Amino acid sequence: MRLSRYFLPVLKENPSEAQIVSHRLMLRAGMIKQSSAGIYSWLPLGFKVLRKIENIVHEEQARAGHHAMLMPTIQSADLWRESGRYDAYGEEMLRIKDRGGRDMLFTPTAEELITDIFRAHVSSYKDLPLTMYQIQWKFRDEIRPRFGVMRGREFLMKDGYNFDLTKEDALHAYNRHLVSYLRTYERMGLRAIPMRADSGPIGGDDTHEFLVLADTGESEVFYDSAVTDLTFGDREIDYDSVEQCAAIMEEFTSKYARTDETHDEALFGEVPEERRRTARGIEVGQIFYFGTKYSEAMGATVQGPDGKNVPVHMGSHGIGVSRLLGAIIEASHDDNGIIWPEGVTPFHAGIVNLKQGDAEADAACEALYASLTALGLEPLYDDRNERAGGKFATMDLIGLPWRITVGPRGLKNGVVELTSRRTGESEEMPPEQAVERIRDIYAGHKHGQHVEMMANRSFHTYI
Ligand code: ATP
Ligand code: MG
Repeated sequence: MRLSRYFLPVLKENPSEAQIVSHRLMLRAGMIKQSSAGIYSWLPLGFKVLRKIENIVHEEQARAGHHAMLMPTIQSADLWRESGRYDAYGEEMLRIKDRGGRDMLFTPTAEELITDIFRAHVSSYKDLPLTMYQIQWKFRDEIRPRFGVMRGREFLMKDGYNFDLTKEDALHAYNRHLVSYLRTYERMGLRAIPMRADSGPIGGDDTHEFLVLADTGESEVFYDSAVTDLTFGDREIDYDSVEQCAAIMEEFTSKYARTDETHDEALFGEVPEERRRTARGIEVGQIFYFGTKYSEAMGATVQGPDGKNVPVHMGSHGIGVSRLLGAIIEASHDDNGIIWPEGVTPFHAGIVNLKQGDAEADAACEALYASLTALGLEPLYDDRNERAGGKFATMDLIGLPWRITVGPRGLKNGVVELTSRRTGESEEMPPEQAVERIRDIYAGHKHGQHVEMMANRSFHTYI
């Protein structure tokens, strides 16, 4: 993309309505625009990152054997009356009447609708296990929408639902989700810690929330600092293996890590004092096992091997897709702007032309642009007639992890400059070599080396 042709409405001033850094930076970098309280338009740069995050979620769900589907945002109240949640849900549910006076609602979550689909089409245990998910807009009329996309009223969520014959099978589905979520967040450059949580209005027995530690997080969390050393990395695991998934579950959840709702001072006291931590966290996902709560209420049964009809065991599993943009920025920024992890960056590298109009500099930039594009990478070329300082400031603000700076002086010596947004370190090298370096960084990234890179980062909010 050439910046002169892009839509990137960056703001020079700090918007006064933004209280936290991620909200401020998303507005300043021209990623989102509020349309009404807690409801946003996604401008091209923000939308690009949102899509990258969605893609990672889709890839990891596919790897775990879950099927993508899509349910409507507007649902009939009838199903919600069956489960009893139409009355239970309260003011957060946006209720709508259609022209025929029928009660409708904008989906805050979709247990009822998926259970209805299931009961219409599945009647035998032979069709289990089954997990389906969607990435779809949700609406919750939050009392206090704030912090930009972190607590919106309209927000994008991945919600997945498992259907199993027995409790044991459903617990395997629970563990499998935990494993797939660990991979998902790491690919986004995030360390999200599974913490024992409270099930709230969805109801249920087992639930973990995934929290990203950040001072601006809305939840208070308590944990054994040893949990922050755990990484999933690029282990190959068989998602059908009950033992393997259970072992990972055990590894990642046996140390103390809880939200304030489930915090237990006595248990916490057993953690060695030097490892006891209290901090703030951003909830980026949650997994639930809730047994037969909805299947019993809504008659979702299957015929078991013994010929008897039994309600299926279910769980639901969510990822805050749009909230993740805020969470990633909270975890990865500096005074100059965003620092995108390679896994979600909107463009792979920026090209800054220090002297637009200089025939040699222009040609070198065009050649870099063409080489990177030919490798399947997306560069953002700042080809505007602007001062170098302004170009650097924009690149820093929007946070591309790598920048190639091209100027007549360097070109005389046959070199351009490659700069890491994260460390600020620059290196001079021939243009071809800069292209190779960027190619290698992203090739390594695909094969899991990013986790190692993440572990070596000293940036404090990466914990
Ligand atoms: P919270 O406690 O933050 O209100 P929740 O527990 O009610 O969230 P879930 O039903 O678990 O939310 O939804 C799954 C995920 O969707 C959450 O883990 C969170 O990341 C995201 N999410 C929930 N509410 C919002 C919101 N208002 N804005 C943006 N993302 C949200
Ligand atoms: Mg939750």
